[in-house]
Amino acid sequence: MTGTTSSPAAAGTPAAVTAAGETGGAWAGRYGAALMNTFGPPQRVLVRGEGPYVWDDAGRRYLDLLGGIAVNALGHAHPALVAAVTEQLSTLGHVSNFFATPAQVTLAEELLRVVTPGGAPAGSRVFLANSGAEANEAAFKMARRHGGAARPRILALEGAFHGRTMGALAITYKAAYREPFEPLPGGVEFLPFGDVAALEAAMGPDVAALFLEPVQGEAGVRPLPAGYLTRARELTAHAGALLVLDEVQSGMGRTGTWMAHHLPHVGGGVVPDVVTLAKGLGSGIPVGAAVALGEHAAGLFSPGQHGTTFGGNPVAAAAALATIRTIESDELLGHVAELGAWLRERLAAVPGVTEVRGEGLLIAVALTAPVAKDAAAALLDAGFVVNPVREDALRLAPPLILTRAQAATFVAALPAALAAAGVGA
Ligand SMILES: *Cc1c(COP(=O)(O)O)cnc(C)c1O
Repeated sequence: MTGTTSSPAAAGTPAAVTAAGETGGAWAGRYGAALMNTFGPPQRVLVRGEGPYVWDDAGRRYLDLLGGIAVNALGHAHPALVAAVTEQLSTLGHVSNFFATPAQVTLAEELLRVVTPGGAPAGSRVFLANSGAEANEAAFKMARRHGGAARPRILALEGAFHGRTMGALAITYKAAYREPFEPLPGGVEFLPFGDVAALEAAMGPDVAALFLEPVQGEAGVRPLPAGYLTRARELTAHAGALLVLDEVQSGMGRTGTWMAHHLPHVGGGVVPDVVTLAKGLGSGIPVGAAVALGEHAAGLFSPGQHGTTFGGNPVAAAAALATIRTIESDELLGHVAELGAWLRERLAAVPGVTEVRGEGLLIAVALTAPVAKDAAAALLDAGFVVNPVREDALRLAPPLILTRAQAATFVAALPAALAAAGVGA
């Protein structure tokens, strides 16, 4: 899968013939020749999905325990999603932001409801975007509007991941992501993860905003320690800084609550100033949101200061509405909490596993040795999609519709895959 060949026919031994007459080897070669090398070689060519399963171009089925990285909340080809998107697209597919649509307005109302179970503060309003990075980019710009010259500092945490656009990148911790693109927007400081004393020392009247993930996803599924978020809310409120919660990965039911910060031991009932969402919001249709709570945060942008052509697109909004409605009609929050607890307990008992982190169906399986890549490869060969989020940890972020019986097949397959990777046997 080097992608250096110019001829599809020469791109290695054909793995299998698809319905379209293409070969797996040919697709990989064509991928390498046509797409920028931002992600490395693809592991498989996927052609179809249904429920929690996907199929590759050789006809092999996989249980998708990554769900497009916490995106496919309703799995693949969910009838409610297909119907909502089809209906909206055949009714009204796109309008400019000079106009309103019922889908856009209803989604904003629904987001205010699910983000604040106690009721959104008066004046709360939503900005609709298309991705997590854009949702955080909006929040970053809101922080600048809030801070002005008097508050140039923006605080984020070590291990933070907030996206790849320049503003979102500036508050992303990993040097390998940031440094090739400097200079980035300035004023950002990274504080040690979960360290209350460091936060107390850093907070002051010159801080515009503090960005936090209630559960850090890309850093290896690390929930904030109990009490941290409560203290962060006190300190930001006292200093007059915005508290921005990035729930792009952890939100929309993934943790068994609508938002990870709704978990009592994570959020302690805090009401942030801004919540950013994307990933699971549209179950695979691109959509993001910056939800501003309260009149002040919601009024930071005046007309013309921010925008995006596709934001509020009615098809994307319909997908998000179908996601929210299905999570409610199928009582998936309770299901996620229950299945997540069951799964984490089973995984913790597997030889080679040192620790299982996470909440609901956002889970990291920490291994006794840094062999997560080999373990993920062995699992893929065995028909399971997972992600080596760290050298020593596998991440699971499966569809919320995953059943216990389906999850049990993974628990049964894990020991052999870990043994093949050299741990636990
Ligand atoms: C994935 C992710 C983002 C970026 O979202 P994109 O849609 O890839 O731009 C931001 N924050 C968190 C916590 C994420 O997991």
